[in-house]
Amino acid sequence: MARFTHQLAGDGLTPATREVPLPELVSTYLRAVAPSAYCDPCLASAVREPLELVHQTAEALEGPGQFARKVGRCKVCRSTKRVVTRVEPVRLARGRRLAVSA
Ligand SMILES: [Zn+2]
Repeated sequence: MARFTHQLAGDGLTPATREVPLPELVSTYLRAVAPSAYCDPCLASAVREPLELVHQTAEALEGPGQFARKVGRCKVCRSTKRVVTRVEPVRLARGRRLAVSA
């Protein structure tokens, strides 16, 4: 396990010491910014964790009605690349998503 306890300063998710598993941190963050999509580097930067760990976490998050990995535009760097985003069932039902399959 990596160090999941450290200080987040300034614009971090929590002002004090965090003791939350990385998947929970990432999923919480993605829910907070939904429906924005983030690429791995920007997501790693946002949650202040190593890119490799965040990448692995994002890959593992994917699931029906939860999070999706797809090619899209990153909210932060505006690059069109593989991103991760929160998927809400209501949006799926409306067919609001771009017709891009991963
Ligand atoms: Zn980005």
